[in-house]
Amino acid sequence: AIRNLEAFKAALNGVRFHDDEKYLAARSHDYFWYSPILNEQLKDLTGDLVVLPQNLDEVMQVAALAARHRLPLTLRGGGTGNYGQCVPLEGGVIMDLTRLDRVIEITDGHVRVEAGARISRLDDAARETGQELLMYPSTRQMATIGGFIAGGSGGIGSLRHGMLRDPGNVTYAKVVTVEPEPQVIELHGGDTQKIQHAYGTNGIVVELGLALTRATDWIHIAVLFDGYDKALRFATRAQADGMDCYLLTAVERRFAPFYRKFGDHFPADRDAIFAMVAPDEMERFTEEAEACGGRVSFALTKPEIREAGLQPAYECGWNHTTLQALKVDRGWTYLQVAYPRPFDPDLVMRQMERYGDEVFWHHEMARMEGEIQIFALPLVRWRGKEAMYRLIDELERLDGCTIFDPHVVTIEDGGMKQIDDAQIRFKKLADPYGLMNPGKTRGWHAGMARDDQDQRQQGETA
Ligand code: FAD
Repeated sequence: AIRNLEAFKAALNGVRFHDDEKYLAARSHDYFWYSPILNEQLKDLTGDLVVLPQNLDEVMQVAALAARHRLPLTLRGGGTGNYGQCVPLEGGVIMDLTRLDRVIEITDGHVRVEAGARISRLDDAARETGQELLMYPSTRQMATIGGFIAGGSGGIGSLRHGMLRDPGNVTYAKVVTVEPEPQVIELHGGDTQKIQHAYGTNGIVVELGLALTRATDWIHIAVLFDGYDKALRFATRAQADGMDCYLLTAVERRFAPFYRKFGDHFPADRDAIFAMVAPDEMERFTEEAEACGGRVSFALTKPEIREAGLQPAYECGWNHTTLQALKVDRGWTYLQVAYPRPFDPDLVMRQMERYGDEVFWHHEMARMEGEIQIFALPLVRWRGKEAMYRLIDELERLDGCTIFDPHVVTIEDGGMKQIDDAQIRFKKLADPYGLMNPGKTRGWHAGMARDDQDQRQQGETA
């Protein structure tokens, strides 16, 4: 392998790379440390080399070399994934795609963009044309659009526009194959499902087409309630009434000490709703919140939020809530929960009663496949692996919830539950030697790679 690596380096021919230890360690990791299980498993793993292609030609050059030298290849965007998605399990080459960051073209309702563009830059560029992205993860600031499509699931905006994989959100993807002579494949419409949430195991996404919507100057707002049940009932009602929000998150009071910047805006004796509300919906939103017993704590535009030294509302929900807590106390970890439909706030109250101080709760109002879908990313006191899987089992068996397990490295164990045959078929085409992010999909077996098949054929003819 080392010989292959040296030959690979020598052939890079001007493509930028780094191989010093510190740089390698930093670029080999993501936010897997949220999970003590993954932390133990992944903390010492690193790649052997980081390459930084500056354009499509260089991406193709690296893809060709990785294939010729049969080196594992792991793609990396912002490195904000939570499940070790861009940790190279078998070493090899890490390809950092953040230099491919051009916003190529913005038209009415659509953007074409290179995969390594930061989501914040992309959304800002759309805003300059009076449009915005349908959704982004709470890591808007650091994550790339390619990493979101390959590793994310939805987030801020999902209340309005559904989850990332819902039809129409991603319109096309341009993919480079990992072969001695790489090809460029374009996937359109529903075919983009072949690479979505595939953890970079079946082709290098170099360009994407995404739907845009008319921009709204969202008001970032917090409303306080004297009971988490009241906060949840308001959020559920606001969503059912079709209130025009981009984010609607319920966060219970025990998180307040972790939201240090907020002080009296989120006191420890109140449960909060954090939301992004359309300006012309503010009156209805406020009236309904007050009718449910809420009190508006602040309502500010994005520039005002920054001026006030607060965080935007999109950094108060989804997995940013976990981050706030872990910054203060590393004795926590978390889970990802989808609630049965229709959502019943009483189920949450029973769960809070059952788990007491072991689990803190916050809930995300979203849509999926056109239906209202509520998610939670509860903070869970770390009591060991056995206790974690007991909790998962209870939430699924007793409460009918679905758990997307954030303590595992494969796509299938993490929540997709089954092997996506269309993705594996595409992998045979886009990564015939099985070099991409090895170990991350259970759908790829020893023997599937082209080399193994060639060997078998030779054996048969011999
Ligand atoms: P990376 O972590 O760099 O990569 C993610 C995966 O995509 C890896 O498997 C990588 O190999 C692959 N990949 C990267 N680029 C490409 C490419 N060009 N072609 C093919 N494969 C590629 N996720 C959500 O969905 N919603 C949230 O609200 C959310 N909130 C988060 C909050 C916090 C605080 C943290 C730490 C994480 C959160 N995440 C969330 C997870 C993560 O931030 C997002 O999924 C993010 O979009 C990943 O983008 P990235 O550029 O950092 O990807």
